[in-house]
Amino acid sequence: MTTRYSASRPQLAALLAAEGAPQYRVAQLYDGLWTQRAPLDDLTTLPKALRAQLDRALPLALTPVVVQTSSDGATSKWLWRTHDGAQVETVLMLSAERATVCVSSQAGCAMGCTFCATGQAGFERHLDAGEIVEQVVRAQHATTQRVSHVVFMGMGEPLANVDNVCAALERLNRDLGLSARHLTVSTVGVVPGMLRLAQHELPVTLAVSLHAPDDALRETMVPLNRRYPIAAVIDAAREYAAIKGRRVTFEYACIAGVNDRPEQADLLARRLRGLRGGAHVNLIPLNPTGAFAGVPPDRERINRFAAHLAGAGVTVTVRRNRGVDIDAACGQLRAREASAPANRDPGAGVGGGSVRMVP
Ligand code: SAH
Ligand code: SF4
Repeated sequence: MTTRYSASRPQLAALLAAEGAPQYRVAQLYDGLWTQRAPLDDLTTLPKALRAQLDRALPLALTPVVVQTSSDGATSKWLWRTHDGAQVETVLMLSAERATVCVSSQAGCAMGCTFCATGQAGFERHLDAGEIVEQVVRAQHATTQRVSHVVFMGMGEPLANVDNVCAALERLNRDLGLSARHLTVSTVGVVPGMLRLAQHELPVTLAVSLHAPDDALRETMVPLNRRYPIAAVIDAAREYAAIKGRRVTFEYACIAGVNDRPEQADLLARRLRGLRGGAHVNLIPLNPTGAFAGVPPDRERINRFAAHLAGAGVTVTVRRNRGVDIDAACGQLRAREASAPANRDPGAGVGGGSVRMVP
């Protein structure tokens, strides 16, 4: 199905020709949708009748089901429905320096990580490149700030859908004008996908979800570890860093009494030695999810873990409980809708913010 943001420039040209529009409309339409990042309806350089024709010929792929905005306005979250009824989530995070969109790459996820709301719900299907790119553009339409960063940290495992994700990365870079360095692909450790991304021409940022320093523990959290153990995952990250000359980030969801001991930090630091550009570890306090009993450690314990990593020469950041941290909650909005669709009280919003229903 050709949707508004899956159509290439030549496809837009063919469509306009079929609608009987003159050639110069191609540049107007392309510039409006991609360079200006404006909604079709705002492209007043195009006659109203042509916009109506295009609206029918180039349908949007995503229909909003729920939109939430935090009370300070800095974070917005969408639950979308696709043409075949799949549901996916997108988050927009605004700060003074950047506007970041967190996109989903699949409806659901087949990887089954125990602590993740998306993993608990299972896999529905891959998203195509148009559906991925449209999440960024639709979030852009909701803010006057120019979207500068995209992270693939929503629902799904991007490197299990590598063709569509690479096509989306290309469009985000070439058509939407986002710097490749500002595009981050987060993977649970799909080694062949990591190696393929390393060969891709775009120097995008790679984030690897590690969560544990040893295979015995990681297997209990990330089933894929049985196929691609930690050493293979870190080797692939090492190769990525060497080929791209870019520092790789490692994500680590901190769970009290499970993976937060100082000696686990020391082991992690040892395993991450020798990566080109050094290693960067992002500590994410666990976001409790329905079917998982774990809780986040207290702040003091996370800081102690961070200090051990830093002492061993690893760059470390601790995510706050809002902002980027909300990525980790991807899958939770859909889970909540599925279990209690009427639960739209303002307190349920991101950061206790407002909840707005969209028809
Ligand atoms: N599938 C990819 C990208 C999507 S998940 C991946 O796993 O990397 C994005 C990040 O959120 C991952 O680091 C994931 O481990 C983390 N995450 C998922 N559920 C979480 C939770 N309940 N609490 C904290 N982090 C979580
Ligand atoms: Fe999938 Fe990532 Fe969730 Fe694991 S953490 S189930 S790979 S979305």
